[in-house]
Amino acid sequence: MSTLSEFDIISLLNTRSSSPQLIRGIGDDAAVFGNPKDPLKWVITQDLLSEDIHFRLKWISPADLAYKSIAVNLSDLAAMGATPKFVLLSMGIPKTIPDSFIRRFSRAFLKTCHDQEIILIGGDTCDSQNGLWIQVTALGQAPARQILYRHGATPGDLIFISGPLGASSLGLHLLTKKKRSALAKRHHRPPIRTAFAQALAKRGFASAMTDISDGFLFNLETMCGTTLCAAIDVDRLPIDALTQREANRHTIDPLPFALGGGEDYELLFTVPPKKAPAFKRWCHAHHYTAHELGQMSKHSPRRHSPVRLFTASGEELPTKGLVKGYVAR
Ligand code: ADP
Ligand code: MG
Repeated sequence: MSTLSEFDIISLLNTRSSSPQLIRGIGDDAAVFGNPKDPLKWVITQDLLSEDIHFRLKWISPADLAYKSIAVNLSDLAAMGATPKFVLLSMGIPKTIPDSFIRRFSRAFLKTCHDQEIILIGGDTCDSQNGLWIQVTALGQAPARQILYRHGATPGDLIFISGPLGASSLGLHLLTKKKRSALAKRHHRPPIRTAFAQALAKRGFASAMTDISDGFLFNLETMCGTTLCAAIDVDRLPIDALTQREANRHTIDPLPFALGGGEDYELLFTVPPKKAPAFKRWCHAHHYTAHELGQMSKHSPRRHSPVRLFTASGEELPTKGLVKGYVAR
């Protein structure tokens, strides 16, 4: 039984090989490649959804599973500021899955492709002895100068999030506790922020971007890397009315879900302070949501986490003990 974490394994595979066509390999939300003479680049990403790790068949409908398998990939393309174009779909299907499930899944998959203006161009299909697994590869395009990377921020940049946090992981938590809740839908049908990401990348307001798949704290730490620190005002974290209501109903504090829970699939990005006033006017004019949460600074090597949490009154909250990252339950 392997004791290596997902991140240990990725670092074992992280190659230093290069190619004139390769602009970004392992380490960002998606890889970027293209002909050096062509200003338009390809952006490619892949996500695997595995039964009982990423979804439970007793909780998710075939239509929602199809939608989510595309949404999680388009979120990584959005995080790069790319326009999605094509997808490939591979499925491992156990004998126990009824035909009606596969028919419904396929219909919903094609409908989501149509709605998102992407085309299914290939994939693979095989039997599975160990549950259903769905793997989607998504390809998009973007002009090289518009592509946003995780590590583009500099000290002083302001930190923004494109929408509410915590709904998906609280929805999952309530499912595991057998509690009926409208938040289950938020877990199964995350937002797809393509339109906002494209517009943001085109206007050149952002300096760095990633998506919230593994949890706000975890993804913010990856944005900080080894050179930056982030100070966050927790009282500004957007927890929407439904999440707050469901949390109150079950006497649960939603803050750890907003900070640590994953799969919100909102965009986390930074904007240099000089561009911030124009960015905020642009959001207002186009009815885009962007919550300002804090600021990047130079990394202080004494701290164990590059992220520091403060209340509006300036009190610092400990990050120690908070579960960071999406934990498959
Ligand atoms: P995300 O959450 O944005 O999908 P991940 O945390 O899953 O990103 O992956 C981080 C980086 O590691 C990405 O660049 C991804 O392509 C790469 N990666 C993950 N698993 C593998 C693997 N088995 N082989 C090569 N690269 C991988
Ligand atoms: Mg990502």
